Amino acid sequence: MKHVESTKIDETAKVTVEELIERFHTQKSGLTQHEADERLKNYGPNTIRQGKRQSEILIFLENFTSLMAILLWVSGIIALFAGMMELGIAIWAVNVINGCFSYWQQHAAQKATDSLKKMLPAYVKVIRDGQAKQIRVEQLVIGDLFQIQAGDSVPADARIFNSSNLAVDESSLTGESVPVEKADGYRHGDGEFAQQNIVFAGTIVTKGTAHAIAVATGMQTEFGRIAQLTETQKKVIYPLQRELNHLTRQLTVIAIMLGVAFFLLAVFFVHYPIAQSFIFALGMIVAFIPEGLLPTVTLSLAQGTQRMAKKHALLKNLNSVETLGETTVICSDKTGTLTQNQMTINHIWLADGDYEVTGTGYVNNGQIQSNGAAVDLTRNRDLNRLLTIAALNNDTEVNEDPTGGQAKILGTPTEAALVILTRKAGIDAKMLQQQFSRLKELPFDSGRKLMTIITKDSKGTPLIETKGALSSELAICDQILVNGTPRPLTAGDRRQIEQVNAQYAKQGLRTLAFSYREVGASDPLNQTAIDAYTIETAEKHMVFVGLVMMADPPRPEIFAAVKNCQRAKIRIIMVTGDSPITAKSIAVRIGITSDKARVISGDELDQMSDADLRRAVSGEVIFARVAPEHKFRIVSMCQANGEIVASTGDGVNDAPALKRADIGIAMGLTGTDVAKDAADMILTDDNFASIVSAIEEGRTVYSNLQKFLLYILNSNVPEAAPSVIFLVTRGLVPLPLTVMQILTVDLGTDLLPALGLGIEKAEPGIMDQPPRPQNSHLLSHAIIWKAFGLYGLTASIISTGAYFFMNYLNGWPKIPLASSGVAYAEATTIALGAIVFCQIAAAMNCRTQTSSVFSIGLFSNHRIWLGIGVEIGLIACLMYQPFLQEIFNTGPLNVVAWGFLFCIPLPLFLFEEGRKWLVRRIKHVR
Ligand code: ATP
Repeated sequence: MKHVESTKIDETAKVTVEELIERFHTQKSGLTQHEADERLKNYGPNTIRQGKRQSEILIFLENFTSLMAILLWVSGIIALFAGMMELGIAIWAVNVINGCFSYWQQHAAQKATDSLKKMLPAYVKVIRDGQAKQIRVEQLVIGDLFQIQAGDSVPADARIFNSSNLAVDESSLTGESVPVEKADGYRHGDGEFAQQNIVFAGTIVTKGTAHAIAVATGMQTEFGRIAQLTETQKKVIYPLQRELNHLTRQLTVIAIMLGVAFFLLAVFFVHYPIAQSFIFALGMIVAFIPEGLLPTVTLSLAQGTQRMAKKHALLKNLNSVETLGETTVICSDKTGTLTQNQMTINHIWLADGDYEVTGTGYVNNGQIQSNGAAVDLTRNRDLNRLLTIAALNNDTEVNEDPTGGQAKILGTPTEAALVILTRKAGIDAKMLQQQFSRLKELPFDSGRKLMTIITKDSKGTPLIETKGALSSELAICDQILVNGTPRPLTAGDRRQIEQVNAQYAKQGLRTLAFSYREVGASDPLNQTAIDAYTIETAEKHMVFVGLVMMADPPRPEIFAAVKNCQRAKIRIIMVTGDSPITAKSIAVRIGITSDKARVISGDELDQMSDADLRRAVSGEVIFARVAPEHKFRIVSMCQANGEIVASTGDGVNDAPALKRADIGIAMGLTGTDVAKDAADMILTDDNFASIVSAIEEGRTVYSNLQKFLLYILNSNVPEAAPSVIFLVTRGLVPLPLTVMQILTVDLGTDLLPALGLGIEKAEPGIMDQPPRPQNSHLLSHAIIWKAFGLYGLTASIISTGAYFFMNYLNGWPKIPLASSGVAYAEATTIALGAIVFCQIAAAMNCRTQTSSVFSIGLFSNHRIWLGIGVEIGLIACLMYQPFLQEIFNTGPLNVVAWGFLFCIPLPLFLFEEGRKWLVRRIKHVR
C-alpha cells in the first residue's frame, strides 16, 4: 500500500488536480479496489465519532436521585432510627431494585434507538478500477475519486473537478445557511472553509454535479475536528416526555400534600407515634407517585420504533411516534411511493407515427416495432436521433442480471428505462458516449423538469440534447424533426403532440420528450467557451424529436393501504411532478380520489390565494406538474386548516416541506441525503403502505401507553383506601395494609404486567377510528375515571372487604379487630392479595379499550401472563417465607382465603368484557 497523508486544505486547493492525483497515488481511473481495501485497513473507516455521551455511571446514579428515591432513602434512615431496622433495610432494598430496573429500561431504550441509526447506511458513487461503483460512505478512503450531485451529503473533504453549477450548503460548518457556489478554479473567499474548489465533509450539495478526489476522511476532516471538540451530546427531551415529567411532578406534589396531611392527622388525630406516622404517611406518598412511569414510557416508545423499523419505517426521534398517531393528511409523491418505480417504455411517438416497444422490466427482452414488424434503425433517422439522445443524455447504468433476477441500477429508474430502450434497439450506449464526448451537463431539476447535455459530434460540432417533461420541452422548442430534417413547429403540431400525450396519460403512462440543437456556424453559441452554455442560452430554439411513454404500475399493496387510510379517516393528497392527466388516472385507479377530484397544476397554484388554496386542500384534490417548492405551501395550508400533515419527499428541494410537515417522510432507497436529513421518518422501502403501517403502529404505541398508565394508576386507590379507613376511624380499624405491602405492589408485583401492556398488539379496530384529536392528553378523562372511579373503587371495596372477611374468619366482631400478631398479619395479607388479584384482572382488562380481549387472543401476550405468574409467585413467597413474613408483616393464608383470592379476577374480567360489549354496540365499533 502507498503511504498517503491528508494535507493542509489550502495547499490542496492550490495545486492542480493532476498533482493531487499523483500525490495520493491515484489514477484517472480511480484507486484499485485492492489499494482502497488496504487504505481502509490502515487508516480506518470514514466515520465521525460524535462527542462523548454522558457517563454511564452518572446515568445509572440518576435513577437513585429522583424525588421518589430520595424520599425512600430518607424513610429508610428514619425507620432505622426508629428501631425498625428490617423495615429500613427493606425500603432501601426496594429502592435499589427499582433504580436498577429503571436503569435497565433506559439502557434497553437507548440500545433500541442506537440500533435504528445503524440501519441507515449512506452511499457514495466512486470510481475504482475504472468503473463506477456504489460503496458505503464509511468505506471511502483518501485518494478515492467520487461523484457528488444535488441532494448528496459530501462524504469527505475533497477537491472538486469537472464541476457543473455546483452549490453547497455549508451551514453545518459555518452556520451560514445561504448555499455557496463552488467551481474548479482556485479562489479563496473570506474566512475559513472558503476555498472555491474544495468541498467539506458534512456539508450538503444543493445543486449541480462534480467529480471529486477525497483529500481527508473521517476524523481528519474539518467536520471531524469540530465534532471532536464538541463536549457531550445534548440530551433531547420530547414533548411526550415533558408531558409525563409534568404529570409525574403534579402527582408527586399531590402525593406529598396528602402525605403531610395524613402525617399530621395520624399524629394529632389518631395519636400515633411520630416515627410510625411518618412511615404511614410514606405509604400514602408511595401509593400516589407514578414511579417508573418515564423509563417505561421511553422504553415503550423505543420498542415501538423498533417494530416500525421492521415494517420499513425508521423514525429519527421517539416523539414522532405520538405525532404519527395524530396524522390526518398524507401529502404523497406518486412516482416510487404509490407506484413501483419500475419504468417500462412501451410506446414511442415521432412525427411520422407511433411505435411499439415490447417486453417489460429492466431486461433487454423486446424490440421496437412499427405495425407489428421490427423497425430498421438505419432507415429511420428520427428514431435514431431520439435513441441517441436517450443514450447520451443519461447518467444511469443498468447491470442486467443474466440469471433473470433484479437488474442493478446505478442512477434513476426513468433513465434506466431509456438504457433498456436503447439496448432493445441494439445500441451500445457506452460506445456512443465515448464517441460523443460530453462537454457539459445542465443537470435535471424538478423545477424546470429538463436535463440537458452538450456533446461534440464526429465533425466537432457542439450538440445540445435535452430530455424532460413535455410542457417544459414545448416551451423551448420552435422546430420539429420530420424525416431527418427540422421544420418549424406549428400550433397544429403542438396540439397534435399534446393530444397524443393526453391519450397515453389517460392510461396512467408517464411521458418524456426529447429535443436537440446543432450549434452550427450561425448559432450565437458557436465558437464560445463551454461556460457560455447555460440554461438560459442553451435550452432554447430546440428541435422537437419525439416522446416516449412509460408504464409505472401502482404498487400491489397500495390498494389495501389506501382503503386503510379511508377507514382511519386519513386523507391522501397526491403531489406529483408528473402530468395532471397521468396523475389523475393513477389516483383514480388506486382509489385515492374519485373522478371528480380537482387537479391543480403548479402554475394554477401560483395564482391561487392562501384562502383559495386552504379551501382546495380541504376537498378532493390532486396536485400535478408541481415543483417540490410548491409542496411547502400545500403542507402549510393543510396545517392552517388544523390538519396534522405527513408529507413525503426525496429530492433536495423537498427539504423545506419535509421540515414543515408534522411528519416529514423521506425515501430511503431513492431519497437524497438532504431529504433524509430533513425528515422525521425514513421509509427503507419507499413504499406508501409502510407509512400506513407506521401510523397504525403509532396509534398502537400511544394507546398502549394509555393502557399502561391506566394499569399502574389502578392500584393507587385500593392502596390509599386502608389509610383513609385508619384515619377516619381514629385508628379503631388498624391499618389494613402496611407500608411495605404498598411498596410490594407499586415497585414489585405491578412492574412486569405493566411492561407487558407496553408491547400489546394493535387492537382490531384501531384503524377504524378517526385520528386522535390534537392536544389530547395521555392521561385522559376516561383513564382518570376508570383508574380512580371504576376499577380503583371496585378494588378498594374488594380488598377492604377481604380484610374484614379474614378478621371475620378469625372471630371478629366477637373479638376486636386484630392489630398485631398472626391474625393481623393474615388480615393484611389477604388485603394485599386482593389488590394483587384485582390487578391481575386489570392487566387483562387494560389490554383492550373497547374490543373483547378474546378478539386479540386471551393468551397472545406472553409477557402479561409471565407477569401474572411472577406476581402470584411473589406474594406466595411473601406469605410463606418466614424472613419475608417478618419484613412485610405477612402470614400464610388458608385454602378458603386462597379460594377467595382466585375468585376475584374472573367476575371483574367478565364485567369489563360486558361493558366493552355495550360500548361497541352503542358506538358501532369493532
Ligand atoms: P413524483 O413527483 O410523484 O415523484 P415525478 O418523478 O414524475 O413524480 P419529478 O421527478 O419532479 O416527478 O419529474 C417531473 C417530470 O420531469 C417527469 O414527469 C418527467 O417528465 C421529467 N423527468 C423525470 N426525470 C427526468 C430526468 N432524469 N431527465 C429529464 N426529465 C426527467
